[in-house]
Amino acid sequence: MHKNAADIRCDNDLALYNKLKENRDVKRVNEQIARHEAEGPSGIRRNLLSTSVRLTKGMSPEIAKMADECIEMLGVELPLELYVYSSPQFNAACFKPEDERLYVMFSSSLLEGFTSQELKFVMGHELGHHVYDHHAVPVGYLLRGKQRPDPELALELFAWSRYAEISADRAGAHCAQDMDAVARSLFKLSSGLTSKVVEFSLDDFVAQVDDMQTVDQEPGQGAPQSDWFSTHPFSPLRVKALKLFERSELYGGKGSKDDLEIGVQSVLSLMEPSYLEARTDTAEAMRRLLFAGLIAVADAADGISAEELEIFGKFFGKYAFSDKLDIEKIKQTVARRAAEVKNKASQTQGMQVLHDMCIMAQADGGVRASERVVLEEVAKVLGVPSSFICQVVDADKDLD
Ligand SMILES: [Zn+2]
Repeated sequence: MHKNAADIRCDNDLALYNKLKENRDVKRVNEQIARHEAEGPSGIRRNLLSTSVRLTKGMSPEIAKMADECIEMLGVELPLELYVYSSPQFNAACFKPEDERLYVMFSSSLLEGFTSQELKFVMGHELGHHVYDHHAVPVGYLLRGKQRPDPELALELFAWSRYAEISADRAGAHCAQDMDAVARSLFKLSSGLTSKVVEFSLDDFVAQVDDMQTVDQEPGQGAPQSDWFSTHPFSPLRVKALKLFERSELYGGKGSKDDLEIGVQSVLSLMEPSYLEARTDTAEAMRRLLFAGLIAVADAADGISAEELEIFGKFFGKYAFSDKLDIEKIKQTVARRAAEVKNKASQTQGMQVLHDMCIMAQADGGVRASERVVLEEVAKVLGVPSSFICQVVDADKDLD
């Protein structure tokens, strides 16, 4: 039977989306955005028309046909306008609709460097964000706003955005109906390379994920060979998730949807902060470092308020350990706690904590110099190169 967009949406995307839409801070930001919109359109179209070239049917019949096919496959109801802007970086984005019109834009290099099947995946991916209403959880506003979101919300938004990408990828694969082209497309996006330079090997790319999983199953077995956290880790995970999708009934395979979702969860759990829940000495050491590190980062920025402190205490209290909330004392423990993690945990696990610290440090309008000092200190004790911090902070997203 023909599947529609809702049939193939990732379960965890939908569940987290429903939960986040009810979150108090998400609601507050959405109300702010709605008030702005009521004052008049934000001028997306005017902006696009003045900075980008609109791709009309006459200019590119092939791309117009592709768009029509994606619209049909996904049941997009709004009229679509396509734009191209000049950039050497492969990228594409879908905007929240304005004036009952939908806008998708591509970088010039992407249009030139991708085959039509690869492009169809990218277009379907972007339209997927629209059909799944992903704009209803404004991650950008929440994580890059002036106000620091509480740590639990920041981590949930981060987890959700990855599952949202999984759904969008499925929408793209559903449109393209060509899994090799889809994988090549993701490889090009994450490496920035076209096949003219490097022969793409799907097996090698996916094997990168199998390596990660082996490492993860044996924590404490020494530092992993490949620091998978540091180099665009998400793309191979997405390809792996799509290979599971391909084998499922959602794509005409034999596997059940339940098995698919369990498999996807297991793949993405490589990037989940599972140490927040685990009842091991190692996980405890990681939590203790995260707690002290976050307090130090928050305090370095502009002092920590009593309200923020309470939020932190509540968040970590849930994970069954207590700390007297004396900021100065806690700050002095950061290096010692980092050393403890270095002793008890693997390099990857240390990177996980530092990664989560970076995500949260960034979540109040960017990482300031004073915050970076704290992150650098932790990185040094953990033996993680400080370039890792920049990589997380300036992380290239594969696709918007
Ligand atoms: Zn996306």
